[in-house]
Amino acid sequence: MANERDLYEILEVPRTASQDELKSAFRKLARKFHPDVNPGNRQAEERFKEINAAFEVLSDPKKRALYDEMGADALRIGFDPKQAEAYRQWKRGSGARGGVGGVGGMGGVPPGGFGFDFDFGQSSGSDFSSIFETLFGGFGGGSRKGSARPRGASGNPVEGEDLSLDLTIPLSLAVRGGEHEVRFERAIRCPQCGGGGNQPGTRRTCATCRGSGEGPASIQRLTVKIPAGAEEGSKIRLAGQGGEGIRGGPSGDLYLVTHIAEHPRVRRDGRDLYLDLPITVGEAHFGGEVRCPTFDGNFTLTIPPRSQSGRKLRLRGLGMPQLRGGGRGDFYAVLQIVLPERDSPALEQAIRALGDAYGRDVRAGINL
Ligand SMILES: [Zn+2]
Repeated sequence: MANERDLYEILEVPRTASQDELKSAFRKLARKFHPDVNPGNRQAEERFKEINAAFEVLSDPKKRALYDEMGADALRIGFDPKQAEAYRQWKRGSGARGGVGGVGGMGGVPPGGFGFDFDFGQSSGSDFSSIFETLFGGFGGGSRKGSARPRGASGNPVEGEDLSLDLTIPLSLAVRGGEHEVRFERAIRCPQCGGGGNQPGTRRTCATCRGSGEGPASIQRLTVKIPAGAEEGSKIRLAGQGGEGIRGGPSGDLYLVTHIAEHPRVRRDGRDLYLDLPITVGEAHFGGEVRCPTFDGNFTLTIPPRSQSGRKLRLRGLGMPQLRGGGRGDFYAVLQIVLPERDSPALEQAIRALGDAYGRDVRAGINL
């Protein structure tokens, strides 16, 4: 499971890294592994997602403190302070064996599955059960909604729980819309008795689930459609994809709450998008036609002669769409004059000549 990796390791920073160090490490890595820079490279895409998820946690001081204390368990409890307190109390208690390990590890939870090794008889108290609930449903910062379902082998149908997952998507996807794979854990019916609680065809209590009808949590993969214009905090509901109901109860729903990853090159201001577009000194001076990439493909931009760095050229209607229609924002190319990177005597001569051409103090009149 990707989420088992240490978040600091993912961002390649020491645990003592300052927020600024985190931010600059994130920017560097996000730029390197951005899908736009690595088209079709799934490994880079995975790394990119991992980097975003790690940064989302570590850039939030509260989440970071919980992560430092509890490691991966903090992700599972969805950074809920109440759950964290319950976790601490439960850890202090001597009742449980196995189960949740120390900071950074989940002793009782092997990768890819929830092989709980608890002794239910000894783990008394609601703290433990609430932790169990959360572990069962939470994944990658997700948290469970709704109330805890009743436990034990009563004969009534039990509804599956609604799950809520945070989903960080690249800006390109928010603009264009498209498919995105999500992976999460949800409670499923006991595979032995199918959620009935009895050994199939008998009235004996199912030995696998001890009559509860619940199976182990299972990792689900779903390809979901992200609508164009998905915003920070937009909710997408996937009916019936939450926890499975038991004893004939209906399954819960899955809610995806979208977050938009910071783009290494494109800034957003409302529905407008801004891209710094490098141009040469010659293009700035003489003007010309240059290629401008956008999320809608490449466009030809006409640069007016004697353009300065910072000049904004607008591509109307190529910004962020609105979720429910109603037009798009604009896309701006912000010109940035770049100098040649290689040096040569001829270039030095040309630049000196250029310098002489200003004929004035370029900072004249700027006083703060
Ligand atoms: Zn069973």
